[in-house]
Amino acid sequence: MSQICSEIHKIFNELPRYSFPFNKTTIPKNGIYIIFEKNEYAHGADRIVRIGTHTGEEQLFSRLQQHFVKENKDRSIFRKNIGRALLNKENDPFLEQWDWDLTTKEKKEKYLPLLNQAKQKEVENSVSEYIQTNLSFCVIHVEGKEKRLELESKIISTVSLCENCKPSENWLGNFSPKRKIRESGLWLVNELYKEPLEFADLEIYK
Ligand SMILES: [Zn+2]
Repeated sequence: MSQICSEIHKIFNELPRYSFPFNKTTIPKNGIYIIFEKNEYAHGADRIVRIGTHTGEEQLFSRLQQHFVKENKDRSIFRKNIGRALLNKENDPFLEQWDWDLTTKEKKEKYLPLLNQAKQKEVENSVSEYIQTNLSFCVIHVEGKEKRLELESKIISTVSLCENCKPSENWLGNFSPKRKIRESGLWLVNELYKEPLEFADLEIYK
């Protein structure tokens, strides 16, 4: 698996790289994003730390905004996981409240009166700062939700199955309370260790 993983690292590292702030007009409307993190390396290149996509048509830019800009961890599991690791690293008991999902009316009614909202805002700010400072990404243009989900899953599986892709000792994800994140070295808990890419899948990127 490491040979094909090495190949995709090479391909994705050579694509145009975006970092915050990024411009809507330069990003394809539909596709998959591949995220890299400062000081993380694999295969002699920047190590892939997350792969993601969107379901709704033409929502790629908006999905990236949900990760990089919009301060609502309940709309971005990526933000939620970065926050969890930041809090866990500091042994901060607010982690329990950060885990609360406030998206539905019932849960809002239940949890909002108990929530330390000032602290929540502070953590959202720290997550934005971390993401905007340390993460960059490239994008592959893929039309069609089915195709995007299939390719996303295969890329995730390929990287998670690679023996040569290991996080650095200081990687923030090592402090994640989620075992799958610590073990995979990826900011992901789904689609790990499934069906990987085959060399034929890479032809379109060459
Ligand atoms: Zn690898």
